[in-house]
Amino acid sequence: MANIAFIGLGQMGSPMAKNLIKKGNKLTVYDINSEAVKELVAAGATAASSPAQATQGNEFIITMLPNGKLVEQVIFAENGITETISKDALLIDMSTIHPLESDAIRNRLATMNIEFMDSPVGRTSNNAVDGTLLILAGGTQQQIDRASEILLCMGSEIINTGGPGRGIRVKLINNFMSISLNALSAEAATLCDALELPFDIAMKVMSGTPASKGHFTTTWPNKVLKGDLSPAFMIDLAHKDLGIALDVANQLHVPLPLGAASREVYSQARAMGRGKQDWTAILEHCRACSGLKNKKS
Ligand code: NAD
Repeated sequence: MANIAFIGLGQMGSPMAKNLIKKGNKLTVYDINSEAVKELVAAGATAASSPAQATQGNEFIITMLPNGKLVEQVIFAENGITETISKDALLIDMSTIHPLESDAIRNRLATMNIEFMDSPVGRTSNNAVDGTLLILAGGTQQQIDRASEILLCMGSEIINTGGPGRGIRVKLINNFMSISLNALSAEAATLCDALELPFDIAMKVMSGTPASKGHFTTTWPNKVLKGDLSPAFMIDLAHKDLGIALDVANQLHVPLPLGAASREVYSQARAMGRGKQDWTAILEHCRACSGLKNKKS
């Protein structure tokens, strides 16, 4: 059981704070929304009138706020966390914010001898309610060890992302990919509608292929990640198939902006001599276009 200040009681923060209480921790909470605070008080928390008051005397301070400017404000502004935080407390930001803002906050706190770790979460608000969030811990091993008991009150799994600032970076990549994939999936489903295909059949097909499973765990491990670019499915053929899909969509007046952009990635790879390579060589192509050295992972 720990004494915890929790600041930011929104869709995520409110159920996370409630789960901390349910697991026996003593919470002091603050939010600019008084209704959100009342709800937590009804669940057993103590209300504070400012971030500074919430922080006073607590061993862990958790922030779960919409953006980096607000995190910075509750930490450093008047009546902020730094006014009352004790030197042996640990400040954990679980918000999704810009990594450079997170770095700036950590560095500024370090000059004040205040410990900070980034620990954003994966999954959704349903998981926040169930206490099954994926915790992306970015801190020293000592900080992660110290916080793990309370983090596991909110999540079912902690991933040590390898050091301070890494949690927020891996969260960024996760969201980049899952948010983009959401739009790509919507394009595929729209093309499905335009072709008058029952969506449940398309789902059944795609749930068994990389279309839905993704490539990290299906096509990549035995090919590009091993440095094997011999074709299981050639870039030339992938380019042809994407072209057919775009042509069909075009005839049906269905715009597929992400699909069209993807086709051009394959066009570039072909133009650069990768047509006969495996389609997973797209990874090598993207790395090369970015100026990063190709490397086996
Ligand atoms: P939200 O908008 O529901 O909640 C934010 C809370 O912060 C609100 O209660 C608001 O009143 C409070 N707040 C704003 N300014 C404040 C201040 N100055 N002082 C104190 N409280 C203040 O947002 P959310 O969905 O709970 O998301 C919180 C963070 O978690 C975001 O960074 C978001 O990107 C991230 N996240 C959200 C989800 C999700 O599914 N919603 C999933 C993972 C991560």
